[in-house]
Amino acid sequence: MIVARPADAAAGLPYQDPAQPVSARVADLLGRMSLDDKIGQMTQASKNALLSQQDIATYRLGSLLSGGGEAPSNNSATGWADMYDGFQRTALTTPLAIPIIYGLDAVHGNNNVYGATIFPHNIGLGAARDPDLVQRVGRATAEEVAGAGLDWTFAPCLCVARNDRWGRTYESYGEKPEIAVSYAPIITGLQGTSLNGSASILATAKHYVGDGGTTNGTDQGNTQISESELRAVHLPPFQAAIAKGVGSVMISYSSFNGAKLHGHKYLITDVLKTELGFTGFVVSDWAGIDQIDGGTGFTQSEVATAINAGIDMVMVPNDYRTFINHLRNAVNAGQVPLSRIDDANRRILTKKFELGLFEQPLADRTYTSTVGSQAHRDLAREAVRKSQVLLKNTNSILPLAKTGRIFVAGKSADNIGNQSGGWTISWQGASGNITPGTSILQGVRQTMAPGSTITYSADGSGIDSSYSAAIAVVGETPYAEGRGDRTGSMSLDSTDLGAIARLRAAGVPVIVVLVSGRPLDIAAEVGNWNALVAAWLPGTEGRGVADVLFGDYNPTGKLPVTWMNSVSQQPINDGDGKTGLYPYGYGLSYPIVTPTSQPPTTAVPTSVAPTSAAPTSAAPTSAAPTSAAPTSAVPTTRPPTSAVPTTRPPTSAVPTTRPPTSSVPTTGAATCTVTYKVAGQWQGGFQGDVTIRNTGSSPIANWSLKWTFANGQAISQLWNGSY
Ligand code: BGC
Repeated sequence: MIVARPADAAAGLPYQDPAQPVSARVADLLGRMSLDDKIGQMTQASKNALLSQQDIATYRLGSLLSGGGEAPSNNSATGWADMYDGFQRTALTTPLAIPIIYGLDAVHGNNNVYGATIFPHNIGLGAARDPDLVQRVGRATAEEVAGAGLDWTFAPCLCVARNDRWGRTYESYGEKPEIAVSYAPIITGLQGTSLNGSASILATAKHYVGDGGTTNGTDQGNTQISESELRAVHLPPFQAAIAKGVGSVMISYSSFNGAKLHGHKYLITDVLKTELGFTGFVVSDWAGIDQIDGGTGFTQSEVATAINAGIDMVMVPNDYRTFINHLRNAVNAGQVPLSRIDDANRRILTKKFELGLFEQPLADRTYTSTVGSQAHRDLAREAVRKSQVLLKNTNSILPLAKTGRIFVAGKSADNIGNQSGGWTISWQGASGNITPGTSILQGVRQTMAPGSTITYSADGSGIDSSYSAAIAVVGETPYAEGRGDRTGSMSLDSTDLGAIARLRAAGVPVIVVLVSGRPLDIAAEVGNWNALVAAWLPGTEGRGVADVLFGDYNPTGKLPVTWMNSVSQQPINDGDGKTGLYPYGYGLSYPIVTPTSQPPTTAVPTSVAPTSAAPTSAAPTSAAPTSAAPTSAVPTTRPPTSAVPTTRPPTSAVPTTRPPTSSVPTTGAATCTVTYKVAGQWQGGFQGDVTIRNTGSSPIANWSLKWTFANGQAISQLWNGSY
């Protein structure tokens, strides 16, 4: 769609012709640009710093951004798109009508927009070990960004977080490069297969390079390692992203062996652009060039150093007029060669042409309805399910039955803000109902059967021994960047410990769900908990956490980081010889019973659901959920015979009524949870569509199965003898 422009002086020129190759369009446009036009293209201002909207045209600004929380007053997708169009119309009044490119941090969904789908932060996605999932998350994010009219996200963060003290650990896919490397398909998700496809936005690989390797995990600190370690640990995710065609790379605030990355010509020009062949453009971080010489603000010499090092666009973001003056003076003084300015412009303009901005400079409203759509929330729920890591499950207390009485406590149980973390609506994020979603408590309520009891109190008060279990949702409150650095203790706070203590005092099993951006120091506490699930920062779809707690999804998540045994072990990483509480890659699943034989039909009491409605044998392998744990994690044997009860339970223990016909299928497969009993205790099970079939093979002595149907009805059955 060609959108009519307020001023269209440039119409008909070769660079405006979409039939021309991009390189020809860039060359034609570059030939028409003044030095001021070119310097403007290299300038990115914060929209909140604009002294007047007219400055976009006066200074020929190439880009605007919304840093965290810089939303329009109408913080809806439409509000953003309207704001964008206003800025773009001003840019198009310039003689060459070069559109701006607008960027923001859509780092777990389009997280600045109220009502957008908030996906798990990267550390949770890292636990999922699912590149296809991450590509789909990228696509959904691109649609929600495009739906708000925007062109460019400062994501993905490819940091390899080596010290959990770092406040950006949750922006990392994990402590080893392998996960971030395997997640390069997120670039395709965001950018599409070609940048001018529908809902394609520009992606940014950040922060180049070594941001996750700083001493003590200090944000914006110094990464003091050998170049070979830098190349082995921190560089590979960037190589993989470049191979997928990532359009921009953001420079890290950190230093490499004392030298600020923002002035590092070797790493930016020689390694990134020349050796790795990166053809997109390099953007600075927010006021990153100010730090080259230390101090605040930027000097002409810092500007020259940054541009000569290979930075193509500077996120100034505030005093853009001074930046423009400095860069013009530096060029005129011969401190920055014009060839460097042209190279930067070529890179930036190429991406603008590829994105189709010249053809469609105004917001494409096609995708507005996808923002916070059910399809995207379903995808986020899938991502949440897959990101949960089951770390402890004593006596298979999980999955919980969907009937009975459950107590829910903890400051993060009913808190969308806490479960979403930083970079949500605002830069730092905030506790509370900051955007629509499903809290973990609401997820529990939606999952349990009608008639069950779910009692909630944040501090755990009011619990008594009548509850079959208690869920404590505890952990960190939102933070972003250096404000999240933890230099001292990394333990749970007294509020969390108090809530858990109240639950324990009631004598019921306690399941801890940890909502946090990283491992916490829990070794002294975990022995008192019956189960532990690392939920990370799941985002708006808390139902996915409940899916795991109640067995609607058998956990598959694996730790993307080594879990410390004590904070004094930081940094602790796989292969460094330290023994943590849980190793990298650790994560439990629920046992799955896949019997190969069934009891004789005569063993099934006729008072229980009829053969057509209730299972008469356990599920054949083919009926087991395909999403369940990898084969290695699935028990292939039944419970040991010695542990199986040898007597039939009294008749009174067997349900004498059928489940209501209306809610239990009467033909074919039934959706139910199957658990098994060992030594009189129900063990974990699996949930899925169970097809009952008599395979009549290997004999099994005296064992029990229990089916819990979707309506909460349970049928227990023990069969004696061998069959
Ligand atoms: C962060 C970047 C972010 C930028 C723009 C900086 O403070 O380090 O990750 O993209 O702000 O919001």
